[in-house]
Amino acid sequence: TGTLMAGKRGLVMGVANDRSIAWGIARAVAAQGGEVAFSYQGEALEKRVRPLAESIGSNLVLPCDVSDEASIDGLFAALREEWGRLDFLVHAIGFANKDYLRGRYLDTPRDVFAQALDISCYSFVAVSQRAVPLMSPGGSLLTMSYLGAERVTPHYNVMGVAKAALEASVRYLAADLGGAGIRVNAISAGPIRTLAASGIGDFRYILKWNQLNSPLRRNVTIEEVGGAGLYLLSDLSAGVTGEVHHVDSGYHIVGMKNPDAPDI
Ligand code: NAD
Repeated sequence: TGTLMAGKRGLVMGVANDRSIAWGIARAVAAQGGEVAFSYQGEALEKRVRPLAESIGSNLVLPCDVSDEASIDGLFAALREEWGRLDFLVHAIGFANKDYLRGRYLDTPRDVFAQALDISCYSFVAVSQRAVPLMSPGGSLLTMSYLGAERVTPHYNVMGVAKAALEASVRYLAADLGGAGIRVNAISAGPIRTLAASGIGDFRYILKWNQLNSPLRRNVTIEEVGGAGLYLLSDLSAGVTGEVHHVDSGYHIVGMKNPDAPDI
């Protein structure tokens, strides 16, 4: 434990269970004295999120479906009421119809595309609109991306396009908000076994491939993403904005298969 986040209050969106990347970040922030509020999607998840929140001394646990503007307004009205201000926000939310997280990107229907981009990209803009008025200089916004934004990775399809738009959003938002002293960054995480990841075709193969071919020769954990999240949310990264920071055992630098890796 430490005091890096002492006196800072923030919202973490996207905890579904104790394997969620959002949970790894929340825990890292709380261990450094940060105060965390949580939002969850749907009543079924409240039962999971509330005990996790309580385990790090938080009882600010609020519903929010980011596809619904009124639901986002409700969340931020409650936060304004409770806290009146916000120092950081973590957006760890993504969704695409899993029937299209396999096969060809070419076959993506219009409604599947629109929903994936709405929930996985626009929602970061929508929550930033409400968070910024509660923030002062030093505020930090953080979202989660994946290598499929930059390069073709099998089965990621419409999510890759949504993450590309999300990474571009990070840059535009960073430019908009820099003058107010608010920073906007993303973490591009390597594959991690979570609820959302289970919807991606052949995910076990992707995990194995990254383990065998990344420079560190292993996969990353939510604790490691949490450490990078802590850095980007804290004043340690005061000079950093518009950045997409890879936490992927270095996989994104690799150009070819590790010649020593066994066949999988
Ligand atoms: P997760 O399933 O634990 O979290 C995804 C969250 O998105 C859930 O809490 C879910 O409730 C929420 N969500 C989906 N639709 C929503 C909506 N309409 N309103 C509100 N919340 C909604 O999985 P995760 O892997 O921790 O995902 C968190 C983020 O990390 C996502 O953006 C994901 O794309 C990204 N990411 C994951 C990996 C990975 O391999 N797991 C790698 C890189 C990036």
